[in-house]
Amino acid sequence: MGNKSIGLSIPNIEVEPILNNLKECLESGWISTGGRFIPEFEGKVAKYVGVKEAVGVQSGTAGLHVALRVLGVKKDEEVLVPTLTFIAAVNPVTYLGAEPVFIDCDKSFCIDPIKLEEFCAKECEIREDYLYNKKTNRIIRAVVVVHVFGNMADMERIIEIARKYKLKVLEDATEGLGTKYTEGKYVGKYAGTMGDMGVFSFNANKIITTGGGGMIVSSNDELLQKARFLSVQAKTDPLYFIHDEIGYNYRMLNLQAALGTDQIDRLESFIETKIKNFNRYKEAIDNIEGLTLVPFNDGIRANHWFYSVLVEKEKYGLNKDELLRKLVDCNIQTRPIWGLIHEQKPFVNNEAYKMETSIYYHERILNIPCSSNLSEEDVDMVIEKLKEFKQNV
Ligand SMILES: *Cc1c(COP(=O)(O)O)cnc(C)c1O
Repeated sequence: MGNKSIGLSIPNIEVEPILNNLKECLESGWISTGGRFIPEFEGKVAKYVGVKEAVGVQSGTAGLHVALRVLGVKKDEEVLVPTLTFIAAVNPVTYLGAEPVFIDCDKSFCIDPIKLEEFCAKECEIREDYLYNKKTNRIIRAVVVVHVFGNMADMERIIEIARKYKLKVLEDATEGLGTKYTEGKYVGKYAGTMGDMGVFSFNANKIITTGGGGMIVSSNDELLQKARFLSVQAKTDPLYFIHDEIGYNYRMLNLQAALGTDQIDRLESFIETKIKNFNRYKEAIDNIEGLTLVPFNDGIRANHWFYSVLVEKEKYGLNKDELLRKLVDCNIQTRPIWGLIHEQKPFVNNEAYKMETSIYYHERILNIPCSSNLSEEDVDMVIEKLKEFKQNV
């Protein structure tokens, strides 16, 4: 039976308004790092997440690279990072000659504040206002906090720990645009806006897309302006080409912003659809023995970017990889959660602190179709197959 194919996370693009914007770029010649759509898109994103200003860059990875540099990460220092995430959250640490140290996640999939604190307290010491790793005698400059799948990391506790242990906080909010606190100390605050700096991504599979692209925000204007400066080749004098520092060619393109300025207007409606589909899945999946649709944290409005199914072979009869293959056979695209970063070849010799929960989830999580243009019929088709493939155990 030839089923229609259901993708995992498909861009949701309204062609007409974007075509008009692109036409304007092409006809006017503003196709590169200048043009009106860039400040327009930056302004809209800043307003949406409730900050004064945002800096558009060519990718989330570029944004993370610049942000780490601006936060002062240097050669032979260390940065605390999660292991259960996409590798782009960690690679930029190495671009600066620093070394990542891996910390486990908790049941939110985000970095575990308990282990983070334990690591700082037991494995490190503060000397002259810097945190040192006792084992390596290196300064630990910062912690990268990823809002995994659009869930919110525990920012209250993480920021407390960071203050206590002299760490800068970089929020990798590349998956978390639109996620916000609905209660607690940070009520109303959006993912990306609570740490020292935050970065969003507009890659094709993210909640809104510009093909590729990213944006940096910070509550510290000096840091933000520094990021802006470095992203345009650190031009001290743009007319006479004077450069006092090494910069990057990371500025967002007007072509990218031409997509973004329409996408951001539709973000709330995307989130609405994602929440509706999540709830439709949830009721059905939690009734299938051995499968659980992992909930988002309480006290937040999550953007519901990615949906995660916990597959317990003892009860369901298939493990996540066996289930993935069966779903592929009926044209339903799913994805195993990422390979743990501390086990990837470039990082096998880096320190990894007490990994447990990440390993548990790595073995059992499958991401199922979650696009913001997924129809209820698509959701029901996936549910039907999940029921059908349940084995008697
Ligand atoms: C997508 C993503 C990035 C990188 O963003 P790009 O825009 O693709 O460079 C970084 N970190 C995480 C956790 C991501 O999911």
